[in-house]
Amino acid sequence: MRLILLGPPGAGKGTQAKSISEKLDICTISTGAMLRAAIRDNTPLGKEAQEYIDKGKLVPDETVVAIVKERLSLPDCEKGYILDGFPRTIAQAEAIDKNGIKIDKVLSLEVDDDVITERLSGRRECKECGATYHILYNPSEKGEKCDKCGGELICRKDDEPETIRNRMKVYHEETEPIKAYYETQGKVVTVKGRDKVEDTQKAVFSALGI
Ligand code: AMP
Repeated sequence: MRLILLGPPGAGKGTQAKSISEKLDICTISTGAMLRAAIRDNTPLGKEAQEYIDKGKLVPDETVVAIVKERLSLPDCEKGYILDGFPRTIAQAEAIDKNGIKIDKVLSLEVDDDVITERLSGRRECKECGATYHILYNPSEKGEKCDKCGGELICRKDDEPETIRNRMKVYHEETEPIKAYYETQGKVVTVKGRDKVEDTQKAVFSALGI
């Protein structure tokens, strides 16, 4: 299965990617997570990406396409992959086709804007390992610390209110048109995100027939 997860920030793409990944034993490639790891490691990529991410803007297409291409060339992608947060522009979707990267299905995870804003503002991320939580819907059992590694949980800078507004605008303008792009290829399945993660997971598995 070579799958794209499409949806607004905070739709639950990362959470669903994890379940699908475990169920099918394929890797997840999250451009957002890769860029945040580069920022944590203070690499040249991280330095370039930070100013865009902090403002809720998109990192330039060439940069993101290059990191995805490199990642997809690794052996663990041979049996399939999930692209989470990529493509985010029509130019990135075209780059996938131009580079001969195969996509079987596009899962569009749809959630209303007001729900997104509530979700993003309650989201927390481990400073050390990048695991994600939500203060109401998916809290860490250790409170302010990560269940997995004990690291400190922080609010992503781009989950602050003004940046959230920017990200939603960018999503509607740049990313939403991608759905139509893949509809013409007959690859889109749509799932409405539910309040409970398990309910969304059931709907996702059923839509994918897994
Ligand atoms: P995410 O974790 O997917 O919400 O991504 C966080 C931020 O990383 C986005 O708001 C963008 O600034 C940047 N980013 C992630 N994926 C992409 C992409 N495919 N193209 C451009 N920027 C991206």
